Amino acid sequence: MKRLEKRKGKAVVVFSGGQDSTTCLFWALERYEEVEAVTFRYGQRHALELQCAASIAAELGIRHHMLDMSLLGQLAPSSLTREDLAVADAPEAGGLPNTFVPGRNLMFLSFAAVLAKGVGADTLVTGVCETDFSGYPDCRNIFIQSLNVTLNLAMEENFVIETPLMWLDKEQVWELSDQLGAFEFVREKTLTCYNGVPADGCGECPACKLRRNGLERYLTRRAAAAAGVGAQAGAANAAGMRDEARTDAGGELR
Ligand SMILES: [Zn+2]
Repeated sequence: MKRLEKRKGKAVVVFSGGQDSTTCLFWALERYEEVEAVTFRYGQRHALELQCAASIAAELGIRHHMLDMSLLGQLAPSSLTREDLAVADAPEAGGLPNTFVPGRNLMFLSFAAVLAKGVGADTLVTGVCETDFSGYPDCRNIFIQSLNVTLNLAMEENFVIETPLMWLDKEQVWELSDQLGAFEFVREKTLTCYNGVPADGCGECPACKLRRNGLERYLTRRAAAAAGVGAQAGAANAAGMRDEARTDAGGELR
């Protein structure tokens, strides 16, 4: 990807250590002079998720804020925060998946904005996505726009909430990480799995299936594109050889 002229300013990335938010972190690093990351502890099943976020931020040399939001875990019964609730494969008919944590993005972005104000950042970056949205209402673009207005009114600020993944599917999120030079990093160091298995994960939970399907589609497309380029190069070589042969033949005639 063409290197962008870095914008002035500072961004705070809402960062969980998963594929999406790590891709957003690389996206922000390419665009902003200064980037900080914020991770919320809200009673996730796996402390590993928090360790994963901390070690990624350390490796990238990013200032990392870990904020306690355990109140959210106490209030919201979700399979992500309660050991006694299993992650269901699919939502009940017409309902939300039991991985949904009510108010999560509202709270996270609101606290991220308070943090941003404190550290002098004017941009918030979040990896929410409407395309693959698993029925989460607070991943929708209209919610983000609405919250952006509300935060600015609440704090007399001009925050911009950036959502680089909003209209991408999982395949395109892999493509974006590749364009950012972060494909291997994201593949090997992030944790998306609901069962707490890093990188390619357990392979069985809904998050792993979504991640793997996107990865497989992207790898297939990338291999096809590479083969296409290879075939074109091969054809160009063959044409070149024919041209050389004609030149040689012409040489003999002279
Ligand atoms: Zn999994």
